[in-house]
Amino acid sequence: MPIQLPDLPYALDALEPHLSARTLEFHYRNHHQAYVDNLNAAINDSCYANETLEHILVSAFKKEDTNVFNNAAQVWNHAFQWQSLSPDGGGPPDGTLGKLIQQSFGGFDEFCSAFRDAATSRFGSGWAWLVADGANLRIVTTANADNPVLAGLRPLMTLDLWEHAYYLDYQDRRGDYVDRFLARLINWRFAAANFEAGRAAA
Ligand code: MN
Repeated sequence: MPIQLPDLPYALDALEPHLSARTLEFHYRNHHQAYVDNLNAAINDSCYANETLEHILVSAFKKEDTNVFNNAAQVWNHAFQWQSLSPDGGGPPDGTLGKLIQQSFGGFDEFCSAFRDAATSRFGSGWAWLVADGANLRIVTTANADNPVLAGLRPLMTLDLWEHAYYLDYQDRRGDYVDRFLARLINWRFAAANFEAGRAAA
């Protein structure tokens, strides 16, 4: 069974005016699909055939199988990012995550400032993540396709920092794109569910 492109959890225009339908169309239908197609071409008739995406990701990383790893990680990261965005998202979280944001960063404004700094100072392409590191929350960035799972961290949500993610809407203004994500798009329900799943597994 080849790796499938997961359904987008909302319509292509659902994140407007923060991210345009044109951006999502290129990003989801072209970029994400291309990673799926490249991965399937690379694993066809290989030791990875019939494995889950998560297994392929970890296994290719350990074997330093760069082409399979990059495409598998990009398939995983993009699926995770679509879930990290929501048409009614953004702003401070409530509940457990609200308390942890306060505890780990000193408040929501401080969290936003730290996330923005991390995202805008990541050179070139990569990803910004909110992760659980034991009982604490941390912001990390990764280069290219890299994923914090490989460092033993649990991702709660992510934002794509590749130019293809924002250039049609924000051009070179990555900071504006990050600000809009923080204010209007972060899916805290998804982040909270990931946090609870990690706590249940611990
Ligand atoms: Mn992307």
